Amino acid sequence: MKKLIRVAKVTVDGKSVPQKGWKNKPKTGELECYTCGTWIRHWENFSGKDRPSKCSIVGCNNDVADGAHVFNKDLLGTWIVPTCHECNVGRKETFSLKTNTILVNPHMHIYGGTIEPPKK
Ligand SMILES: [Zn+2]
Ligand SMILES: [Zn+2]
Repeated sequence: MKKLIRVAKVTVDGKSVPQKGWKNKPKTGELECYTCGTWIRHWENFSGKDRPSKCSIVGCNNDVADGAHVFNKDLLGTWIVPTCHECNVGRKETFSLKTNTILVNPHMHIYGGTIEPPKK
């Protein structure tokens, strides 16, 4: 399964990861990763990187506070990206992700990195 993907750098199954057309997945704010404690910590654990200083969303320069669940109609699944708290809870419209944003699969514990998650 795909553990993480990177905007504008890596292709998935021969297709570019879209930079535009992302949306917040609604009603994920109350759920945190049980194993990692928080979603931003989950992002760090599986990206192998420290959280970036600034929000991943184009046009936002706030400091990173959360790991947001995002999805794109052109890509299967839900992904975690580092964002500020305002973007995680309040952003309803479609947005673009900054170049080199790393997207981490939220299902790494459940599927153990060995089983493909069910197709939605
Ligand atoms: Zn986790
Ligand atoms: Zn933001």
